[in-house]
Amino acid sequence: MALGKVRGFHVCSARQCTEVARWAVIWRNPRIHQGREKTWLACEGHREFLAEFVALRGFPYRIVPVSELGEAVGESAKQVDPSSLTEQERSQLAGEG
Ligand SMILES: [Zn+2]
Repeated sequence: MALGKVRGFHVCSARQCTEVARWAVIWRNPRIHQGREKTWLACEGHREFLAEFVALRGFPYRIVPVSELGEAVGESAKQVDPSSLTEQERSQLAGEG
């Protein structure tokens, strides 16, 4: 068995969450992402949390089941990139619960 490769399995993008992601929140910041979308993966419990995070900023987004993303989701969707967030956003992501 080849153990080095995990296929069809994604982990939630929310910080410190290790749940299996079932949903993808695909969003875009019109100010800095011209035509480029970001994908956050979300477990059942973080789907609303991540969607709300984007919605509060008025960014366009949609939620799709991870199964519909296919293999295309890779490097970009592994974790929420903290460097692309403002200080306030970062503390919001970290200070959940
Ligand atoms: Zn999660």
